[in-house]
Amino acid sequence: MLIIRDAFRTVIDAGTELGEGTPTGPRDLRLTDVVLPDGDAATDSAGRRDAVRRDAADDERTDDEQSDDAPTTLDASGCIVTPGLVNAHHHLLQSAFRTLPGTRGVAMHEWLPRMAAEYAAIGIDPELARASALVGVAEGLLDGVTTVADHHLTWPAGSDDVGIARATAAAARELGGRLAFVRGSARDDPEQAAASADAIADALVPDGPNGITADGLLQLAVGPAGVHSDSAETFRLLGEVASRRGLRRRTQANEQVDVAIALEKYGRRPIELLDEWGWLADDVTLAHLCAVTDAEIALLAERGVTATHAPGCDLPMGWGIAPVAALLAAGVVVGLGTSGGGSNDAGHLLADARLAMQVAPLVGPPIEARRILSMATEGSSLGLGRPELGTLRPGSGADLCVWDVSGVADAGVADPVAGLLWASPGRRPKHVVVGGRVVVRDYRLVDHDEHALAADLTTLLASRRAA
Ligand SMILES: [Zn+2]
Repeated sequence: MLIIRDAFRTVIDAGTELGEGTPTGPRDLRLTDVVLPDGDAATDSAGRRDAVRRDAADDERTDDEQSDDAPTTLDASGCIVTPGLVNAHHHLLQSAFRTLPGTRGVAMHEWLPRMAAEYAAIGIDPELARASALVGVAEGLLDGVTTVADHHLTWPAGSDDVGIARATAAAARELGGRLAFVRGSARDDPEQAAASADAIADALVPDGPNGITADGLLQLAVGPAGVHSDSAETFRLLGEVASRRGLRRRTQANEQVDVAIALEKYGRRPIELLDEWGWLADDVTLAHLCAVTDAEIALLAERGVTATHAPGCDLPMGWGIAPVAALLAAGVVVGLGTSGGGSNDAGHLLADARLAMQVAPLVGPPIEARRILSMATEGSSLGLGRPELGTLRPGSGADLCVWDVSGVADAGVADPVAGLLWASPGRRPKHVVVGGRVVVRDYRLVDHDEHALAADLTTLLASRRAA
């Protein structure tokens, strides 16, 4: 059992907050003992049912803290509790290629070959995938990201695809984070990409319905990089793997280059092509979506497509700002992602939530902090088909962050939930819990040394460059 003690505000979801200053009344002025029980209902000090359940995966864990019958207590005094953040679009491998010379401030047609050359020079294999994923997932957890969708696009000819996927999944599992591994494609041979997706599914999620393991820690999805890079055949064959296995489909659309190449190659815009290719549906999430027209937004809403906003990538790449307020107004579910280290050198989703809020008025009406926070939690999780993640409602997966807002950076803040985004840029959570298990305590990974993970990646890259 886990007890989170003395939080003064708990965000259950976009519409429900408990504690000081909320309409739940003066007896909730100080919310104590939010309890994550062993599956049964429990109550907090105000007599409400508990918000969340302990994840089944916890039963298998053997570390002393978790197996002990005595409750684990996290001090949350001076803190706000929120659902864990869900990074709906990342490329974990690119964590090894941040600030690569020749990739900043350049057009996409220069960026792509520069990145590809570096991938070839370093060599993409399970060892690199593992070291990059350890760094990327650890960075995410330390920043409050409890689930990350890793859109892996780099599968060199002859690569050990299953090994790469397995190494990435193992890294996330060791750290205790949830992973949605997306078998991507970027100009891959269509049949090879589909066969590889099938092989990865057999290896990683053989029995999991909808490509999700029984403990909920690993999910598999498929996703071509976009109509600019992959053919109708790739979309069709990966879509077949998805429908046969119940996997979610994810792709990228309407970065500048995507629109330009689609027009040049097909004389059509990406959304039109995706519609024709059967990729506008309620199991599909589209990342980026800069430069979408009103008619396209209406079509996305009609088809039930979900979206991922990634301003921390779109802005530095010069792609523009997705019209998020218009997407939301049309009824499109919008999540938030960082994209990868090749374009956004950080995986800090809350920082990008702040950026999303700051840039929104440039392309439409402003968007409230709470709305953006719900994009970074529930919006992202719905796009993954995971309604149990992203909120702290009864039955949720017990992923949460405890944010200390008692320091000087939050002093004078009138609305502590809005302040989570507006104040203290780059803040990290004090504690992070995934599936009821504490994975970050007092700003540190519980079972790993972040500096050792960083050093391991640095050493590996240095040895490959020297070879
Ligand atoms: Zn991306």
